[in-house]
Amino acid sequence: MAAERIDGKAFAARLRDRVGAQATEFARAAGRKPGLAVVLVGEDPASQVYVRSKGKATLEAQMNGFEHRLDAAVGQDELLALVETLNGDPAVDGILVQLPLPSHIDEQAVIAAIHPDKDVDGFHVINAGRLAVGQPGFVPCTPLGCMMLLTDRLGDLSGLEAVVIGRSNIVGKPMAQLLLDANATVTIAHSRTKDLPDVVRRADIVVAAVGRPEMVKADWLKPGATVVDVGINRLPPVEGESRGRLVGDVDYGAASEVAGAITPVPGGVGPMTIAVLLRNTLVAAYRNQGLELPEGAL
Ligand code: NAD
Repeated sequence: MAAERIDGKAFAARLRDRVGAQATEFARAAGRKPGLAVVLVGEDPASQVYVRSKGKATLEAQMNGFEHRLDAAVGQDELLALVETLNGDPAVDGILVQLPLPSHIDEQAVIAAIHPDKDVDGFHVINAGRLAVGQPGFVPCTPLGCMMLLTDRLGDLSGLEAVVIGRSNIVGKPMAQLLLDANATVTIAHSRTKDLPDVVRRADIVVAAVGRPEMVKADWLKPGATVVDVGINRLPPVEGESRGRLVGDVDYGAASEVAGAITPVPGGVGPMTIAVLLRNTLVAAYRNQGLELPEGAL
């Protein structure tokens, strides 16, 4: 039987609507809109697309967007000074510095400069630490979005076997942490894992965050497994195409015949990332303003 297609695009649209409605409530109570500052250094085309869509989504969610574009040659000190200014600006609730940064800038130093209470990307070590010890903080948007899709489909994850493929700080590690907090039995697989297909075969939940087109094959999956595909890979164009097709890390067509449910690429995890960024910004706004976000509002 074909797997259920997990519609991240529709889920994300509903989340954005709820965030927008609650942002309007926030503005009424606080006398100002929530604000998200996005910093883009250089001209990387993919980053420009992300920043543009974040800006648009921010306005649609009834928030203020503050965009700061800096030349690729900007010095680290100047970038750190901008972050410091944004830290002190009461109109700014969330600060996002678009990665990757040019090689002459130390990314970790820039992330460390963002005030943890404005770190809506959840990349600051303080927020990584909070997640590790189970304290409230900001969780990176992509894994939190995956978690929302998983709990929406599966409800209680207690005792389920979960395999996360990939151990990056922004996806794999926080994803594993969230699954652990939800009482799943978690395995983190990575480039040095032996017999990856065998490891994946025991999973009720598979999260693939590798960056290798269609690496996870149908015969790696336990029948009925729930598969979340984080990968975004562009294939080389074939004849008649100006740009190659976007695919995930999972061989979607064949995997759909075995999995119980699976996220497509595009239209699965991707749209969740921006929706969760807006959600995190709204949470930050309530905290920074000293207001209580009503229970169940999001
Ligand atoms: P990364 O390159 O930082 O990490 C990739 C991980 O995959 C590493 O931990 C590595 O150990 C593991 N890996 C590499 N080769 C492997 C192999 N052969 N077998 C098993 N594991 C292997 O990447 P990332 O930033 O975590 O992103 C992963 C993918 O997710 C990319 O395709 C990226 O574009 C995508 N992504 C999507 C979103 C979204 O919004 N949907 C957000 C972030 C990343």
